Amino acid sequence: MPKVAQYARFSSDNQRSESIDAQIRAMNQFCKQNHWQVVSTYTDEARSATTDNRPQFQQMIADSGKGLFDIVLVHKLDRFSRDRYDSAIYKKKLKKNHVKLCSVLERMDDSPESIMMEAVLEGMSEYYSKNLAREVMKGMNETALQCKHTGGCPPLGYDLDENRHLVINEQEAQAVRIIFQMFADGHGYTTIIDYLNAHGYKTKRGKMFGKNSLYEILSNEKYTGVFVFNKAAAKTDGKRNNHAQKDSYIRIEGGCPAIIGKKLFAQVQRIKAKNKRNTGRYHSKEFYLLTGKLVCDVCGKRMIGNLRFSGRSKTRLATYRCNTHRAMCNNKELNKDYLDAYIAVLIGERLKPKNLRKAVSKVNQQVQKFNSSYDKYHTDVLQQYNEVQDSLANITRAIEKGIFTDDLLQRAEQLENEKAKLETRLHELKLLEPIVYEDVAYLYTQWRELKRNTEEFRTFIQQFVKAIHVRPYDFDIVLDMGFGVVELTEPITMRRGELYEMFDSKVKEQKRCLKNQKADT
Ligand SMILES: [Zn+2]
Repeated sequence: MPKVAQYARFSSDNQRSESIDAQIRAMNQFCKQNHWQVVSTYTDEARSATTDNRPQFQQMIADSGKGLFDIVLVHKLDRFSRDRYDSAIYKKKLKKNHVKLCSVLERMDDSPESIMMEAVLEGMSEYYSKNLAREVMKGMNETALQCKHTGGCPPLGYDLDENRHLVINEQEAQAVRIIFQMFADGHGYTTIIDYLNAHGYKTKRGKMFGKNSLYEILSNEKYTGVFVFNKAAAKTDGKRNNHAQKDSYIRIEGGCPAIIGKKLFAQVQRIKAKNKRNTGRYHSKEFYLLTGKLVCDVCGKRMIGNLRFSGRSKTRLATYRCNTHRAMCNNKELNKDYLDAYIAVLIGERLKPKNLRKAVSKVNQQVQKFNSSYDKYHTDVLQQYNEVQDSLANITRAIEKGIFTDDLLQRAEQLENEKAKLETRLHELKLLEPIVYEDVAYLYTQWRELKRNTEEFRTFIQQFVKAIHVRPYDFDIVLDMGFGVVELTEPITMRRGELYEMFDSKVKEQKRCLKNQKADT
């Protein structure tokens, strides 16, 4: 028969709290039902809720190490501790002494929340002082603790129920399964994207699939039913904690419904890792970050990567160069190393949380603008539709009265056609959905974490670069920070000299090379 220590607490500040007697009565009843033996009872009458001012509580914790009882029973868990940090700390102490905490009113299953709390606590105690940990936990997203979706848009394949839990959207889940299966079968991104788009599958935002959306999906562990929560998102002083980032994910098995199996997911991760190594090797020869984005403003042709080794010292020189023969176009080539480096940094700057928030609000302004004019357009179409509908109704009534003329029937057919057209148009007309910062916050992490000189990084960077127009003395960088929701372009004009000065030391070196070159000839 398990031995039980009962703990009751009455707080005079809480009007609704049961008296100590009432708590003990309920606990005695509970022990009788479960055939538990009550060996001791601890009670505190505390004004303050902090555990430090509760002598009997401290005594009970101390006694738990003496093997006097196997279970600590409370009437309600908030009697044990109302402070989440204390609760976790003391529960851990009990656990260490092989004593279980039970509650009369709450079922003490190993809920995702309690598992996560323990994980957080263990992870953090190495890095935080007690007070800091307490603060962090207070600030931690309550919704995430209950495996609730925290961001704006749920991942493809899922919808949110009224409690913000992820539920499977069967239609979209199918696309997810196709993506994983095709990738595991050895198909490349392009093939998969073509297949999806050809079969009418759409991204969560109703867009065509692109490489970047695919990459996201193939990396998302949620699809195996593991709810992943980013601990680093718990902020202490508004900044992310660097220590927490090292080990920043809490994973809850079964925290959300699975769409694909673990085996398939693991297989895909292996292929991805292998591809990464391969592309790294393949591109180690020369990697052009901005391939396809540069346009020669003199002749209108594309500018393409060019690599040569010049001078006696065979200095490597990589550039973007106009594809038209030099005799036909006098535009100058542009140093590839400088431009690539500058654009990568520029994008990173734009993705910093502060700037990202600005971009999000700009996008939403556009969305609002579109949606407000949409209303008028939508009303117009709807009005036309109603008019057609009315005319059709009139004709139907006439026919019912026995009026048949060729004209009337012809008119009816015309109207039917028109109605169908308007119906389609109404159906296709859609409001744009605004985005929230949380939808795009991952982009900055991605920018930091993606390995440079890889296909993935190029795809990532290129989604923000619409084009770069190059002229003999300057060039325009046209960024698009619309996140695929709207087009939000912003041209930045830059003199070639500015770019070259940024990499000053290299310029000097190059000048030296040029001098050598002249000496050569
Ligand atoms: Zn040209």
